[in-house]
Amino acid sequence: MTIPTWAMISVEEARERILTFFERLGPEPTPVIDALGQVLAEDILADFDIPPLDNTAMDGYAVRAADTENSSESSPKRLTVIADLAAGYVLDTSVSNGQAVRIMTGAPIPPGADAIVPFEETDEPLREPGEAPTRGDTVGVFKEALTGANIRRQGEDIKAGQVVLKAGREMRPSEIGVLSSIGQTEVSVYRRPEVAILSTGDEIVKPGENRRKGQIYDANAHSVAALVKAFGGQPRLLGIAQDTVEDLTEKIHSGLDADMIVTSAGVSRGDFDVVKDVLAREGAIDFWTVRMKPGKPLAFGAFKAPDGRRVPHLGLPGNPVSSMVAFELFGRPAIFKMLGRVGWERPVVKAITRDPVVNTDARRFFARCIVTKGEDGRYYADLTGPQGSGILTSMSAANGLTVIPEDLPRAEPGDEIDVMMIDWEQPG
Ligand code: AMP
Ligand code: MG
Repeated sequence: MTIPTWAMISVEEARERILTFFERLGPEPTPVIDALGQVLAEDILADFDIPPLDNTAMDGYAVRAADTENSSESSPKRLTVIADLAAGYVLDTSVSNGQAVRIMTGAPIPPGADAIVPFEETDEPLREPGEAPTRGDTVGVFKEALTGANIRRQGEDIKAGQVVLKAGREMRPSEIGVLSSIGQTEVSVYRRPEVAILSTGDEIVKPGENRRKGQIYDANAHSVAALVKAFGGQPRLLGIAQDTVEDLTEKIHSGLDADMIVTSAGVSRGDFDVVKDVLAREGAIDFWTVRMKPGKPLAFGAFKAPDGRRVPHLGLPGNPVSSMVAFELFGRPAIFKMLGRVGWERPVVKAITRDPVVNTDARRFFARCIVTKGEDGRYYADLTGPQGSGILTSMSAANGLTVIPEDLPRAEPGDEIDVMMIDWEQPG
């Protein structure tokens, strides 16, 4: 059954429909350091062991464990120090009975030695920062060392030939570290989507430029560009289009080589809301109202590029809070899908609201709130002030969005509600 494009649909249906327009993008060789948040398109194999050699986990003395038998603080075993060994160097001389090598963390174990005695377990005096090392020709060992003590074994982290990271793995800082530890500088990951962003409206002016009476600065292009970046995409600003079919069409054309076009404003029922008209002329509208607050007027469809490609278009509402909330709910999953990432969902917590939340028009209400952990260990939610969809500072104060169901007209103080955490940094 086809439903009219103006029918109001649920958040889930909108998201499902949107996601059918997106595919995972192709793999691309990328510097490891730039691949944060991207997904591996290949299995990664190590071609040598990590660590490459047995080495010491402590600063101290490389010894033969048998030489330390029965040693104690009151009757230390005395060994002859035959060499100093720093990390990054190897010693070919063998450690014989009664001998020790003074050795620094990370240095390979010299032949003959089978245990490391840390400085703390010897009579070597503690060195103050800045003081030159003082070592004697002999060292007294205070404690018996077990064979293998404080030795990191060759290959204990990674074995040569092993698959270190599997295709599909998301690159986090630790994956970047692992790849670097095996010497890799470039990696094949699914490409970052390029998201073209266009603000619309005669009243909108680029921040920093002259503002006539009645005009406002463009918040949306910048907040949305920051969200695109935060979600792993690459924003490209197309500027500001006037509320005319001609200007809008021209600016849209300049973004048709992107993976997705995002516009803001011009999608409600006003006289100059021409975004839907241009979308209908230059492509096709899929839907344009969603049962949510803020963000009800939300156009979605696809433009047709000159090469026949369909370029998905998310037409965000103009109000700055609405456009951010709508991009959070629909732009994030689209970007994640293009990146090949799974699990775009934000964590949802149960929190006790301390404010009444009024939801009379049967839409899902995403009110801005701040969640904190109470002394009783439970989460509490406070609204961040007035909930008008133009009040961007109250978005800035929030770390979560309430998820008040369509059929719940009111939550009272003390009620437990769901809160979607959009910033998990400060929940407590
Ligand atoms: P509209 O969807 O065009 O009716 O716009 C709704 C409201 O959002 C109006 O008050 C606009 O002035 C405002 N608005 C539209 N675009 C932006 C923008 N880029 N930055 C800040 N506010 C905007
Ligand atoms: Mg407008």
